[in-house]
Amino acid sequence: GLILGIESSCDETSVAVVKDGRKILSNIIASQVDWHRKFGGVVPEIASRKHIELINPVIEEALIEADIEFEDLSAVAVTYGPGLVGGLLVGIAAAKGIAYSQHIPLIAINHIEGHIYSNFIAYQNLKPPLVCLTVSGGHTDLLYFKGLGEYEILGRTRDDAAGEAFDKVARVLELGYPGGPIIDKLAKDGDSTAIELPRPLINASNYDFSFSGLKTAVLNYINNQKQRGEEIDEVNLAASFQQAVVDILVTKVVKAVKETGVKDVILAGGVASNHQLRAELKTKLDDLKVDLYFPPPKLCTDNAAMIASVGYYRWQQGDRTEYSLNAEPNLKLK
Ligand code: ATP
Ligand code: FE
Ligand code: MG
Repeated sequence: GLILGIESSCDETSVAVVKDGRKILSNIIASQVDWHRKFGGVVPEIASRKHIELINPVIEEALIEADIEFEDLSAVAVTYGPGLVGGLLVGIAAAKGIAYSQHIPLIAINHIEGHIYSNFIAYQNLKPPLVCLTVSGGHTDLLYFKGLGEYEILGRTRDDAAGEAFDKVARVLELGYPGGPIIDKLAKDGDSTAIELPRPLINASNYDFSFSGLKTAVLNYINNQKQRGEEIDEVNLAASFQQAVVDILVTKVVKAVKETGVKDVILAGGVASNHQLRAELKTKLDDLKVDLYFPPPKLCTDNAAMIASVGYYRWQQGDRTEYSLNAEPNLKLK
C-alpha cells in the first residue's frame, strides 16, 4: 500500500509517500523556523498562513520525488492532533480533498503515535512486543506495545512533562531555550551528587511520573542560595537535576521491561536525545540483554513519513475516518 502522509501540527509543513508502512519514497519537510525565529517561538497565526501557502507545493513535491501520481495512492493519513488548530485544519482540509477526489480512505492520525512509529521506519526489523518511552516537551508516556497499533498505556506524568521540567529549570537559571540540550551539555562537567534533589514516585508501585515537585525543589534551592547570599553552581545543579530525571525514567523503564518481559525498548520525543538518559538506560538494558532504539535525528523532528507509517497500519486494520473529521488540539494517546 502507498500512503500519503500529511503533517501540519506545528511549524513544519510536511508531506510524505511511504510504501507498506516502512519504506520512505519521499518525505518533504518545509520548515517555517525562519519566519518564527525573530519572535522567539512559534506564532500560531503565522504558522497557519504559512501552512496554507506551502501545503499544495509540498504535496506536489512529495508526489514528484516518489515518482507517483494521485491515482497510485491507497489512502491519505493526516495528523489531527495534538497541535495548533490553525495548522491542523490546513492539513485536514488538504487530506479530505485528496481522499474525496481519489475515492480513497481518509485516516486520522495522532501526532504522538507518529513520533513513536519513526522507530519502525528507522529499524526495519523492529517489531513488538516492546516498551516505548515517549518523553517530549508536552508528554511523558510509558507504553507497552503488544502489536503494531496495539498498545497499553502503563503510565504517564501527573503534572509536568520531562522536557517541560528541563525547560523550566533552564529558564530560572536563564540558560536559554529550549533548555534540554543546554542542560544536557552543562551537566557533562558537573557533579550529579552535589545537590540533593527528590525523585518523586520513583519507588511507587505504578508507572506514573511527576516532575513538578522536582522542579519546585530546584527553585527552592536557588531561592535559598540567593537568600543566604551564596552562589549558585549552575553546572552542579544541572548535573544533579538531570541525574534525578534520568534516575526516575530509567527506573520506570527497567520496571516495565521486567514486568512485561520484552526484549526491545524504544525512545521517542525530544528528551530521547539526552545523552545521559541514553547511556544509563543502555547500560541497564544491556545487563538484561534488552536492546534500546531511538530514531535518527532526521526522523526525530516533525515529519509526515511517521504519519504515513501509522496510517498504513491503521489502513490495513480497516480503520476509516469520516469526512466530519475535525482538528483536536489537545488530543491524547488512548
Ligand atoms: P510534543 O511533541 O509533546 O507536543 P514538543 O514538540 O515540545 O512537544 P519535542 O519537539 O519532541 O516536543 O521535544 C522538545 C523537548 O525536548 C524540549 O522540552 C527540549 O528541552 C527537550 N530536549 C531536547 N533535547 C534534549 C536533551 N538533549 N536533553 C533533554 N531534553 C531535551
Ligand atoms: Fe512533534
Ligand atoms: Mg516539537
